[in-house]
Amino acid sequence: MRAFKAHLRGLSPYPYKKEEAPVKLDQNESPFDLPGELKEEALGRLRAIPWNRYPEIHAESLRRRLSALLDWPEEGIVLAPGSNLLILALSLAAEEVLDLRPSFPHYAHAAKVAGTPYRAVPLGEGFSLDLKALLAAFRGGVLFLPNPHAPTGTLFPEEALWALAERAREVGGLLVVDEAYREFAGTDFRFLARENPHVALLRTFSKAFSLGGIRAGYLLGSPEVAGVVREVLPPFVLPAHTGAILEVVLENLGYVEKVVEEVVAQRERVYRELLAHPTWRPYPSRTNFLLVRTPDAEEAFRHLLSQGVLVRRQDRYPGLAGCLRVTVGRREEMDAFLRAAFGVAYA
Ligand code: PMP
Repeated sequence: MRAFKAHLRGLSPYPYKKEEAPVKLDQNESPFDLPGELKEEALGRLRAIPWNRYPEIHAESLRRRLSALLDWPEEGIVLAPGSNLLILALSLAAEEVLDLRPSFPHYAHAAKVAGTPYRAVPLGEGFSLDLKALLAAFRGGVLFLPNPHAPTGTLFPEEALWALAERAREVGGLLVVDEAYREFAGTDFRFLARENPHVALLRTFSKAFSLGGIRAGYLLGSPEVAGVVREVLPPFVLPAHTGAILEVVLENLGYVEKVVEEVVAQRERVYRELLAHPTWRPYPSRTNFLLVRTPDAEEAFRHLLSQGVLVRRQDRYPGLAGCLRVTVGRREEMDAFLRAAFGVAYA
């Protein structure tokens, strides 16, 4: 086959294998579906819009709404069906992609697909940022920094982000703070991006907003950065149905707080209970998942699955030997997880 660019040969698929299990804790989804009355309202809007017509070219009405909600200039907002697509667009546009190791695997994958030069800086002790190494490595291009971090759940300190933002300005690069899990940490880095056009934020509706299946995320940045990302994406990229559902959600944001409250309560409970485990060790998390170190990830994963609990292995990533990632679900799902987790020690 000579149809495709040489750099796409041997591209490894996104590391996700679908498995069925009664307790699904493998994709960092919200365990709660959108409240029924909001679904009904959204269905009404879907019925009312003409399906034969293209949606707005760059989701103008929704951007206006988000702009008012977030006090962010409309020209600095890009909406897309999933922040994954924004990551791909940024990687296509980037002169170089700088990443952490380990980190959310889509940054590396997107850079590879885009054929963009790529480097990664290992995390320091205890999943900290190796700021010295990062500052030295950041010489331009785009630095992807999930905060809170995936897959460790760590929240990096504000001072480190200030320093990286300053560095971005100095070298003419772009610091992209991926805030996918921000609601579970109670953080908001708009203040950093407001005064520095070399900082952009990525946000998603897939986690705290319970809309993983709907596919929606957005970028907040300077008009210049947002303009490039909009033009890299195809026109009409946000489907009319996704847009209609987002409208309803943005008019009814109250449920999000409840999702976050329940998930955070379960996260803290499970973390505390796991501290008593004879061989597993949970890491503190500011997200909707817990990273857990076990003596043998394969065995732990298989055991949990045999008890009907599906989690995600992370042990193939550097520094994460033995690690599993457990999405925080509803109380009864976490009970099932804990029962299975404690069962393994005595198996
Ligand atoms: N960033 C991070 C850090 C994530 O963990 C995820 C989802 N797992 C995404 C982005 C992608 O989100 P979306 O569903 O909006 O594509």
